[in-house]
Amino acid sequence: MHEVSMMQNTLEIAFDRARQNGATQIECLTLNIGELSGVIPEALEFAFEILIAGTMAENASLEINLIPVTCYCQRCDRNFQPQDFVYRCPQCQQISTNILTGSELELASLIVS
Ligand SMILES: [Zn+2]
Repeated sequence: MHEVSMMQNTLEIAFDRARQNGATQIECLTLNIGELSGVIPEALEFAFEILIAGTMAENASLEINLIPVTCYCQRCDRNFQPQDFVYRCPQCQQISTNILTGSELELASLIVS
């Protein structure tokens, strides 16, 4: 269960940030999850529900932003979103190895009180 340890780490970061801001409760967490991160959002939500019990995030809601894959084509000097798992530029057909977004796994924002 990769998602449980990932959620645990994220919550610890959130608790630290909340405490630094003198908050006693976390109301909402927003995560950026890239398509390439390998994380299953449903599993993350499930882990969240279990892990927040008895913590300052007990009543918090979880929002997940799914970040699509974006590649950069050096030849065309443009960004594109691949249509499948082959990162081929739609303009020049060159395969891009320059992945700009899609592997994120981060706490995007936190609402505390
Ligand atoms: Zn191109």
